[in-house]
Amino acid sequence: MALLAPLAEILGVAPGYGKLFPVPSPCPGRRLATPTWGRKVFSSMPGEGFVTFSVDDGHPSDLKTAQLLQKYGLKATFYIPARNAERKVMPESQVRDLSGSFEIGAHTLNHVRLTVLPRKQAWAELHDGKRWLEDLLGKQVDSFCYPGGKFDRDLVTMVEQAGFLGARTCTLNLTDIPKNPFLWGVSTHACFYRPVVQIRHALLEKNLAGAWNFVSVYGSATDWLQHFLTSLQHVSRQGGISHLFLHSWEIDERRDWARLETAFEAASNMKSLRRVTNGELFALSRGRL
Ligand SMILES: [Zn+2]
Repeated sequence: MALLAPLAEILGVAPGYGKLFPVPSPCPGRRLATPTWGRKVFSSMPGEGFVTFSVDDGHPSDLKTAQLLQKYGLKATFYIPARNAERKVMPESQVRDLSGSFEIGAHTLNHVRLTVLPRKQAWAELHDGKRWLEDLLGKQVDSFCYPGGKFDRDLVTMVEQAGFLGARTCTLNLTDIPKNPFLWGVSTHACFYRPVVQIRHALLEKNLAGAWNFVSVYGSATDWLQHFLTSLQHVSRQGGISHLFLHSWEIDERRDWARLETAFEAASNMKSLRRVTNGELFALSRGRL
């Protein structure tokens, strides 16, 4: 039984009981769509390396992140809901200002976990969140991010039907373009994860490529900055996408601004990597740029 304990913890299974533990994470409990992560889908851009950033939730502290990104000449996508019951969202005038320098992506109207809503309400959140931004910005909104990282098969279809070009998940340790453009993963989340949580998530998500990468590429790194720096090096050698996603409010709570700047500076020094927004990446993968 003692030997089984570590494996049981990884799988979230209580030895002798077979019950699943809740998964502690900023992106907990997402349901699975068809696992369609691909490792060899760079046919239109073989070997090319990209770096992109995404910043979720539209918190007022996103403006500080934006200033740092601009300081280092980096591109990013800010995923912003109209409202969020969990924390503040910046005023509309600031969202408009931000759109002058960065891509703005949709994050539903009210930042709600779509998997727990009736389908009709989920559709309204998707559709109205997109329309709110398009009316505000006066331009098309191509990119979507699932609040809380939660999605299922129906939602993936609905995001496509709403007219988005691609959608980002919170699935970690990935540097490839997915076969399904509405299931983009990221390389790194600017947040601390124990290795056991990383592996457990990857297995529950059937993200075997991510589990393998976490061990073989990232050396089971628990420090997000080290993890991201490794992704930059890996992508500069192998091609693919180094993608850091973050919540500015999380950076602020953990007083992690200096380390975030280190990450941005390192990315800006990787001259071989092409700087793109999420939306540009989505368009590139579909041959639209
Ligand atoms: Zn969010």
